[in-house]
Amino acid sequence: MVRYLSDIWFGFISILSSMAITLRYLFTPAITVQYPEEKREMPLRAMNKHYLTVDLDTGKLKCTACDLCAVICPTKCIHIVGQGKGKVRHPVEFDIDHNLCMYCNLCVEVCPFDAITMWTGNYEFGGFSRTDLFIDIRELTAPGFVPSPMTPRLPAAKAAKAPARK
Ligand code: SF4
Ligand code: SF4
Repeated sequence: MVRYLSDIWFGFISILSSMAITLRYLFTPAITVQYPEEKREMPLRAMNKHYLTVDLDTGKLKCTACDLCAVICPTKCIHIVGQGKGKVRHPVEFDIDHNLCMYCNLCVEVCPFDAITMWTGNYEFGGFSRTDLFIDIRELTAPGFVPSPMTPRLPAAKAAKAPARK
């Protein structure tokens, strides 16, 4: 009997507290963003579509086709073909299948050359077929400066002269 009454009492308290929360939000102005006309600025470290970063002095990709990102990728959605040896090694093919990517950021964290980033603010990509989400080296090449995990250590002058990210 005591258990029965205590269940009723705690049920009543639970309803009262949830109604209090509902009442509080009833009189709070709604914050609605009218997407796509209005867009919220993404946090710097939000993980979005990948970019292969370029060396701002030479304009070349920083990637050396070392394959580390492809090896660590849990879904095996990165495919790289490299060319050359030593310091001149570079990718001739670099594909990411975004159908499989789970945005874990491991490929970025493992890269020893800060050559790939997901801090691109570019979340607006989709497709009508699976192949539309298969992005290759041309689409992955950064249009200029894009933030990356090394950005805080970039000289301010270099970051300032770089074009704004798209
Ligand atoms: S974010 Fe994760 S799943 Fe996506 S390509 Fe990088 S390692 Fe693979
Ligand atoms: S992006 Fe980085 S980890 Fe991946 S192949 Fe290029 S240099 Fe290696």
